[in-house]
Amino acid sequence: MPNTTVTLTGTGTPLPVPGRAGPGTLVRRGGWAAQVDAGRGTVLRLAELGLGCPDIDLLALTHHHSDHLVGAADLVLTRWVQGRFDPLPVLAPEGPTARFARRLLDGWAEDIDVRRRHTGRPAPQGPDVRAFAPPAAPAVIWRSADVEIAAVSVRHEPVEPAVAYRFDTPSGAVVVSGDTRVCAEVERLARGADVLVHEACRSAAVRERGKRFIADYHADTVELGAMAERAGIGTLVLTHLEPAPRTDEDTEAFAAEVRRGGYGGHLIVGEDLLTAPVGEPAAQRG
Ligand SMILES: [Zn+2]
Ligand SMILES: [Zn+2]
Repeated sequence: MPNTTVTLTGTGTPLPVPGRAGPGTLVRRGGWAAQVDAGRGTVLRLAELGLGCPDIDLLALTHHHSDHLVGAADLVLTRWVQGRFDPLPVLAPEGPTARFARRLLDGWAEDIDVRRRHTGRPAPQGPDVRAFAPPAAPAVIWRSADVEIAAVSVRHEPVEPAVAYRFDTPSGAVVVSGDTRVCAEVERLARGADVLVHEACRSAAVRERGKRFIADYHADTVELGAMAERAGIGTLVLTHLEPAPRTDEDTEAFAAEVRRGGYGGHLIVGEDLLTAPVGEPAAQRG
């Protein structure tokens, strides 16, 4: 197992699609694990990876759209039920996302109370919300001994704030876009990263289906290919796939559009549970 890996815990969108959990990305560095967003089914995907919720050391939230958050309470509550009692640190941009995180367990107070009295375990203290002002330019917002996390505001209007995260580790860097149009902010944050996990929208196909509003605030695949090439990305991983691929032809269409944009590096059209090394030779550009 390489030192740093990134795993897609969910490649879906708000619409339920068989085989695709809600949006989520897991970054692991040695025994340390950070979950970025926690959509529908996240804890099941973690279990399928052989992980319990107590194995998660940090949750980083990108924005307050429900598809990215509906699994967050499940993660925090199940971490407690599975026996980890220290609060889960939660990174969130100040505003609606941080407010959501602070209220995360409010609806579960009576469930927590009856479980606590029944089992004698301590009440959960979390989540430990570490809100930050959404930065206009990439800025470091969290540090440990060997992982540094930077964030930047992205372009998902009218949803504000929304952020992307970059994890710098001794073996390499991985960036997770969250939801955004293709933008200069992510391009700056991702410059030279080994792996970029980016949401992807086949705008032309979406518009043909009469869903222009979706294409308006998501990342066009052709523009994404151009941006990833300019940023010198080693491996580009597409997630939050819109429209969700149901056939091999659909999957190939995502790849073809990104290539049409000019991207020449290693390209992966994401599937749930896909794991990519960060900074290993297989993920290098070329
Ligand atoms: Zn979304
Ligand atoms: Zn969104």
